[in-house]
Amino acid sequence: MKHPKTILLVLAETAFVLLLILCQMKTCLASNATHYPCNNVYHSSNIDFMVQGSYKEFFPLMLQLGLDTVFREDQKNIIKNASQIFINRALENRIIDCAYRNSSKNLPTSRDAFINELYSAISPNYISGTTVPAFAFIASFNNDPNIVGIGYVDLFYDCNNPLPGYKNKHYLHIAINSDKLGNSSNYFFAKNEAYWAGIIAHEFLHNLGYEHKGGYTGSFINEYRKCIQYDGASLQMIDGNICDFNFDKEVYRDDL
Ligand SMILES: [Zn+2]
Repeated sequence: MKHPKTILLVLAETAFVLLLILCQMKTCLASNATHYPCNNVYHSSNIDFMVQGSYKEFFPLMLQLGLDTVFREDQKNIIKNASQIFINRALENRIIDCAYRNSSKNLPTSRDAFINELYSAISPNYISGTTVPAFAFIASFNNDPNIVGIGYVDLFYDCNNPLPGYKNKHYLHIAINSDKLGNSSNYFFAKNEAYWAGIIAHEFLHNLGYEHKGGYTGSFINEYRKCIQYDGASLQMIDGNICDFNFDKEVYRDDL
């Protein structure tokens, strides 16, 4: 017969192992619900395409994108074209002018700070003489009719689970409602690539820490989204189709 102390130790060890398993289950449940990047090898080996552009016609923008395997081909095409539209417009003066013109709150600390933040997320890294494009993963979710996207707030500065070459930062990671996207959806913007470019931009800015506290209207992150969609021509008045309702979800680290 075992000594009572040994039995207690075994029980404690069993409880610890059970706790560990439960913790891992919770992480996986969260991962299944929101596709939070807990498996970088899986995500980074899932590169579907690359979009390229430039800032000031000189500094290269280079973003590889991995897409959730559940997206259909028509959906992938829309995301690819939308991503290219985003890269073409992201750091153009007319877009940033437009976002500043229409924003009244949640502004960047400065225009240069915003450009630097976004540039560092969508430009290549140079590691040991090798050019490594920036990386973004777009997950899919469905059965949530009230929102079109999910943005993980401040994720880009979470240095846990980096990809190789991303020593002190994360990569971009967002989610799109696949029920709203593509040929089989009856959502008004289902096939509108410029609209999805705006949504991708908005969710990326959540990754960079931007929020719309106190409502969408007038927040920098939301005005930037519209300026991407309308190529810098966004005015408050032409955006009658999108009022100040919740079209996306911000996910914080504490929620996971
Ligand atoms: Zn948002």
